[in-house]
Amino acid sequence: MRYLSTRGEAAQLAFDDVLLAGLATDGGLYAPFAYPHVSPKDIAALAGVPYAQAAARLIGPFLSEDASCAALPAQTEAAYASFRHRAIAPLIQIADNLFVLELFHGPTLAFKDLAMQLLGRMMNDVLEKRNLRATIVGATSGDTGAAAIEAFRGLPRVDVFILYPHGRVSDVQRRQMTTVADDNIHTIALQGTFDDAQNILKRLFRNAPFRERVGLAGVNSINWARVVAQMVYYFTSAVSLGAPHRHVSFAVPTGNFGDVLAGYIAKHMGLPVERLIVATNANDILARALATGRYEPRGVMPTQSPSMDIQVSSNFERLLFDATGRDHGAIRGAFASLDQSGAFDIPPAALAAIRGEFDALSIGEADTTDEIARTWREAQYVLDPHTATGVSAARARLAREPATPVIALATAHPAKFPDAIERAIGYRPHLPDSLAARLEGPERFTILENDEARVANFIAERARAAKA
Ligand SMILES: *Cc1c(COP(=O)(O)O)cnc(C)c1O
Repeated sequence: MRYLSTRGEAAQLAFDDVLLAGLATDGGLYAPFAYPHVSPKDIAALAGVPYAQAAARLIGPFLSEDASCAALPAQTEAAYASFRHRAIAPLIQIADNLFVLELFHGPTLAFKDLAMQLLGRMMNDVLEKRNLRATIVGATSGDTGAAAIEAFRGLPRVDVFILYPHGRVSDVQRRQMTTVADDNIHTIALQGTFDDAQNILKRLFRNAPFRERVGLAGVNSINWARVVAQMVYYFTSAVSLGAPHRHVSFAVPTGNFGDVLAGYIAKHMGLPVERLIVATNANDILARALATGRYEPRGVMPTQSPSMDIQVSSNFERLLFDATGRDHGAIRGAFASLDQSGAFDIPPAALAAIRGEFDALSIGEADTTDEIARTWREAQYVLDPHTATGVSAARARLAREPATPVIALATAHPAKFPDAIERAIGYRPHLPDSLAARLEGPERFTILENDEARVANFIAERARAAKA
């Protein structure tokens, strides 16, 4: 499979190169030339297949060549071996035709593990094949950093540097990053805010000599390999409810649009999906964009579902690319307008195409708390606040269309957000024992001044990829 940039001015690449590149050099995102087709017979044949094997079957057609396909089953096996639930992504029924897909059984208790665990192994193997090393640098307000650290710890060809704002992440979030003992993991407590950390990161990526010197690679959610790894659980969950013979809808707690885009890809590979329901918190850019046709970020509002406190949904560009009939000029125009005037209008035909497949709902803070309480009362099931937005949006859909099952994606374990749960149901959920024990270990981190040159020196001195 070959990949092209949504903005049409960067080189076309094979999967392995897209994996290492992250963003395209023209500022666009990579998309495959076509979505591989999975026949109804092949969908039916996924029934009863273990998750790791289903992943290898479904992801294989997106890869570069036979050699990477041959390595894939071992990579998916290793990626999901550490999950605490044998089904990897189990499906739980909480009401008539309403199901929760638990994606939080990985090492950091959030759905990002499902993609990141595989991405780490794929990247390491490509570097092995090419006899190269790489340096991952990430900025985090909590969850993504922990998922990246868990995925890349101990991998011989990759060093990881994670910047987080000193004193501004929760105890659990910090310990998830700093109690990892592997030599290739470096945590930097930056004396600044998350925005300062993000700014330093962006400058490091624009610093060509530095980038070249340390072999800088990105793992944020625009990385295509992450999106494609997330397509798998749409298939496995729909099959367990009777696909391809029965349609299902999905409700997806959304921030950067990576997860719900994976559902769109599953649908375009042939999975019978009725509706894709985007659930946002009070940061409602996507709900506004679908309602009005205007994509216009506003200030970010802090909520009890912090991993969705986002105003620019980067992966939306990939949907817009398809919805405009893959019109590079329209995409360049839209994002130039976003840069210059802070908004763009979705072309009417593209808006109609998007509305034909997606619903979008914004769930406010009080409704999120009410949903956690209601699901506890009616089903004795504890939702985390991100998942609660999805379940609430799923109920709205079922009220209008009760005949089609809705699968709401559970993106985080409730124990990651004990304050929100306690507010809703008066009870503090516990972390799984294995994780709680590890978080007691010694912490390792380095406090650095909010200064690009100091951070760059710190990385260059320690990265094994660094050339003198
Ligand atoms: C990252 C995250 C999301 C949002 O996913 P996107 O792919 O960015 O839309 C939702 N819930 C949780 C818990 C997350 O960590």
